[in-house]
Amino acid sequence: MGFSGVDTWSVADSASLYGLDRWGEPYFSVNARGHVLVQPRGERGGALDLVELVRGLRGRDLALPLLIRFDDILEDRLERLHAAFARAIAQYGYDGRYQGVFPVKCNQQRHVVEQLMESGRRWHFGLEAGSKAELLIALALVEDPEALLICNGYKDRRYIETSILARRLGRQPVVVIEQADEVERIIAASQELGAAPLIGVRAKLASRGSGRWGSSVGEGAKFGLSLPDLLTTVEVLRQAELLPDLRLLHFHIGSQINDIAVLKDALQEAGQLYVELIRLGAPMGLLDVGGGLGIDYDGSRTATTASTNYSLQNYANDVVATVRECCENARVPVPTLVSESGRAIASHFSVLVFDVLGCGQPPTGAALVEPCSEAEEPLIVRNLRDTLAHLGSVDMGDPSRPTSCEPLQEAWNDAIKFKEDALTAFRLGYLGLRERARAETLYWACGLAIARRLADLPADTPIPEELRGLRAALASTYYANLSVFRSAPDTWAIQQLFPVLPIHRLEERPDRLGHFADLTCDSDGKLARFIGSGADKSLLELHGLRPGEPYWIGLFLAGAYQEVMGNLHNLFGRTNAVHIRLTPGGGYRVEHVVRADTNAAVLQAMEHDPQNLKERLRQASEEAIAAGRLTIDAARRLTQHLEASLGQTTYLEG
Ligand SMILES: *Cc1c(COP(=O)(O)O)cnc(C)c1O
Repeated sequence: MGFSGVDTWSVADSASLYGLDRWGEPYFSVNARGHVLVQPRGERGGALDLVELVRGLRGRDLALPLLIRFDDILEDRLERLHAAFARAIAQYGYDGRYQGVFPVKCNQQRHVVEQLMESGRRWHFGLEAGSKAELLIALALVEDPEALLICNGYKDRRYIETSILARRLGRQPVVVIEQADEVERIIAASQELGAAPLIGVRAKLASRGSGRWGSSVGEGAKFGLSLPDLLTTVEVLRQAELLPDLRLLHFHIGSQINDIAVLKDALQEAGQLYVELIRLGAPMGLLDVGGGLGIDYDGSRTATTASTNYSLQNYANDVVATVRECCENARVPVPTLVSESGRAIASHFSVLVFDVLGCGQPPTGAALVEPCSEAEEPLIVRNLRDTLAHLGSVDMGDPSRPTSCEPLQEAWNDAIKFKEDALTAFRLGYLGLRERARAETLYWACGLAIARRLADLPADTPIPEELRGLRAALASTYYANLSVFRSAPDTWAIQQLFPVLPIHRLEERPDRLGHFADLTCDSDGKLARFIGSGADKSLLELHGLRPGEPYWIGLFLAGAYQEVMGNLHNLFGRTNAVHIRLTPGGGYRVEHVVRADTNAAVLQAMEHDPQNLKERLRQASEEAIAAGRLTIDAARRLTQHLEASLGQTTYLEG
């Protein structure tokens, strides 16, 4: 849309528009060049221009879409989590420690888990496994004898025996009883191996849940022992002489807890349960508060799905203070506090950068609007042309008058009416295809002209409802080189919001509204919900594409859950991924490159043999050559394209 006068847009306006100054802290901001700036160590120094980084990576033959993992951010998140608990422990005089674990299900990538183990060593940071395969990862990667290895999920005999034997390796696996029947398997395995595991119990809390995962608590929850089951389990363990190994109480009230009040209720209930377990004779020593520590995706600091009404520090304070109070009142020693925070550790460090391939808009093209000879033009089309011409000279008078938009409203009503007339005339055979196309183009041109007039009005001008929808109707579709099903599946599956914005041109006023359509042939393959200040929005402010210039978009806070939940819809595979580390000189190093899936790899994943596909095509080519339909030269070209495609990524390569 056009704007009159001097354009006063600045990078600060972009930071505010896209919420960078709210959710980006302390890692993401805008620099004076209008590029996204990444400070992977927060305020502690070191910054990378994201656009320069992408250029450098492309120079290394790493095509977009590109998943950039900032290992320094991962480390920084870990430090912040531990620092928050350390502060809370000091502030409340808590006579115990905090010792966290990372839930592997949140991001199982080897480099990610290895990095966490390396960075977390100084706090004896451990892992949480929810399946046998995750247990194998945890067993191999937790080398620190003091780190915890929390074993959750459904457990068969082999899972349990593996955990028991891991204790002999010098590890600290805690087998958490989640289902009442697991206790029998644990007893049987312990008797057979002559060794006991460290045992935990997961309680099904009665406290109310909230948000999307609210049903993770309460009597209907999938996991955990009800109060009667918990008591029975304790008695069964006592009879089997395993009660001395009962060390941990666990609860998990769902991911992305939005409201701190919900957490407090759960903590109080769990604190009392912990005290009761000690009274029943279990030694205990560990209280595991599960995951749920949330991320402020939209920066609004509210108890809404895309946000939280508490900070990391508030969270740590509440955990420490509530548990301390329960134990103090009951005069039992406070436990070591364990949390299984996944989202809060892993969200920030990944940024997905994708390019825009093109842009589609309603047809307002000037070429078709040029009049053909007066005499030939049907009346309906001429009416629309007159409406458009009239719009150029509408006098709106004083814009503060409530009626000042009336002439625009009238013109738009006319345009709608004439367009409908054109459709009726076409249906009845009175209007040709070319004339109908002309009518439609003129209709959209009227819309655009009105939108431009509206954009020039002072911000407080009262604008009628129908005209307010015009900008949305004129919005553009930006074609994105990505698959949301692969790279941001939660945007589709659970309507999750991630911050999305151009990573450059932020010094420029974004004068379009648009949404993104991805590469899949699925109408759900789109990004069409964005964070806003206040309510979220269906269209994002974007820039017009410039010929020959790339337009790069970043999707932020995508490090938790997206990669493994992503699927092969339309056979779009994994994107290129890189691990970046700041270097002391102010630059960066590419620590690891994880290459994108090739077309051959995704075909094989579906049991197609690339060699076989090639052979079939070769035979078809031979037949076509024999029949004189294809030259040998053309056949070779086809083979070459096939060969090259098999070795390339599944995305468009410019
Ligand atoms: C998923 C899960 C977590 C991780 O939750 P976040 O909200 O990502 O911190 C922790 N514990 C258990 C038992 C889980 O199922």
